[in-house]
Amino acid sequence: MSKRELSGEEEFLERLVARRLLVPSGVAGVYGRGRYFEEVALAFDALITRETAPDDAEFVRFPPVLPRHDLETSGYLASFPHLAGSVFGFAGDEAAAGTLPGQAAAAEDWSGSQTMTDLVLLPAACYPVYPWVASAGRLPSDGRLVDVLCYCFRHEPSGDPARMQAFRQRENVRIGPAEDVEAWHESWIARGLDVLASVGLTATVADANDAFFGRSGRMLAASQREQRLKLELVYPIHPDGNPTAIMSINYHQDHFGSDFGISTADGDVAHTACFGFGLERIALALFRAHGLDLEEWPDEIRSRLLG
Ligand code: ZN
Repeated sequence: MSKRELSGEEEFLERLVARRLLVPSGVAGVYGRGRYFEEVALAFDALITRETAPDDAEFVRFPPVLPRHDLETSGYLASFPHLAGSVFGFAGDEAAAGTLPGQAAAAEDWSGSQTMTDLVLLPAACYPVYPWVASAGRLPSDGRLVDVLCYCFRHEPSGDPARMQAFRQRENVRIGPAEDVEAWHESWIARGLDVLASVGLTATVADANDAFFGRSGRMLAASQREQRLKLELVYPIHPDGNPTAIMSINYHQDHFGSDFGISTADGDVAHTACFGFGLERIALALFRAHGLDLEEWPDEIRSRLLG
């Protein structure tokens, strides 16, 4: 029996599934996590907790849904309409309720009785932070630093295990006067590289390559690159392809501050920045770097990561 040659991404995915590191769901880019995959992702998350403890960030965890109003306020739909996921719910009458199960069982289109709810799926872990911080009134003079972690959703089905539709981001978000936020953003380039190097991942800094939608999106992407507002630390998860972003470091300037009305102690529009580690991509990079068998990993990496 002849078999089509697999791409590097597909071959890696097959090996991850064969070792039960990832569990396929039947939809591209949506997986269950096996025990060892999860152990590695959570161990890296715990490492970030230890590394950032001296920064004394405010801890908060939000659920993976966001009020629709907050997404509408953020401008996300102007840049990434194709990646957003919206929550719909049943809004039909009794007749519609009667026909729905039959349509569903026959895999017919049953969306006619559905309508938008006031929720969307969370596109990035830091989005709930801005309206929350804005609602507290003016910032303290040194601003705020917030620590979040959440599953995020992006609608981009792919056979590449490094491009999931549902994945976790561990983020810190800095909100305050422009110069403080800019300095914090700058400091995380070296810090991020050091953290990754400490677990054997030699990453490099690259300008972000966000998948903005359409022609105006391409202009946005060009200006983002010019101003070096969004940087990525990339690692070759697929040795034969482009390196993959495993951490992003973003300086939003006054974008979220003006969208959500966040004011500094002096009454200026606050600037914001965030860094985010992609936990699934980092786990994949670690399995790529050190092998699929956790028992075989170098002792110094195991003890650094797993304690
Ligand atoms: Zn963010």
